[in-house]
Amino acid sequence: MTMRSTRRQFAASAVAAMTLATLPTGLVASSPPFAGGKLHSFSDGSMNLPIDSVFYDIFDDDRQKFLKAAQVSDGIWRRPVNVNLLEIGERKILFDVGSGLNFLPTLGELPAALDAADVDIGAITDVVFTHAHPDHIWGILDDFDDLLMPDAAYHISQAEWNFWDSDDALTVMIPGRESFAVGAKSRFDKLRDQISFFQGGDEILSGIEAVDTAGHTPGHASFLIHNSAGPVLIAGDALTHPVISLQHPEWHDPADMDRGKAALTRKRLLDRLASDKIGLAATHLPAPGFGRVEANQSVWRYIAADS
Ligand SMILES: [Zn+2]
Repeated sequence: MTMRSTRRQFAASAVAAMTLATLPTGLVASSPPFAGGKLHSFSDGSMNLPIDSVFYDIFDDDRQKFLKAAQVSDGIWRRPVNVNLLEIGERKILFDVGSGLNFLPTLGELPAALDAADVDIGAITDVVFTHAHPDHIWGILDDFDDLLMPDAAYHISQAEWNFWDSDDALTVMIPGRESFAVGAKSRFDKLRDQISFFQGGDEILSGIEAVDTAGHTPGHASFLIHNSAGPVLIAGDALTHPVISLQHPEWHDPADMDRGKAALTRKRLLDRLASDKIGLAATHLPAPGFGRVEANQSVWRYIAADS
């Protein structure tokens, strides 16, 4: 056994021990019928965000409407973090990796969740990123700052890489979020030799098409899985709330970096999801995060897969 694998196994068991006492871990759910493969949802935990930290710039009536729609009554906005694993053919493709142990104490469950479901994290062939915010990319490292999946191939949009890899990223962060830029850059440094880049419209892996959904971040991407049982879109943070994102797509998510663009992207995406009857999987929708979108008068409605 090498020193490297010993350290990694120690890190994995430390994660498992820590999470046992908190949330039940493991597979949350698998998607509705999927030809030739399976799409799973695992939980990385939940982001329990004090509202003053996330609604800092929304005031008065809008703030009250927002909180009501988000069902926030006790000062904490709970955002689940769902991570999707697609098993298809010989590939095991993870879409985002959760946040690891250095972002929020209520996150970092993914390695234990995979372990509890007997998914060998070392057998993951590909990691595809929607964007480089902490709850989506920080989890690529273990406790010793080594890659958890050193043999996987990594994929990210060129625009997302270019933004977070530049010195400008730090200067445009709002106060208190500087760590987002520092954290993304330090993860990029670990990935530099084994990451490949794509643009919207590219088929990044067989049957998986990248969709440009920039706005939440400069290079945010979603992924359309073409499937004979019906297409499914992995939407990341293009849609973050089952009511707010669908009934008020013009209201910005607190983490949207370009609000106007994010709102336009949401409307365009909702229109496409509803009219083309595309299944939806998204990071922060209520676990497991599988559902669909229906057009309803001038707005849209989210229908969870299990409802
Ligand atoms: Zn997120």
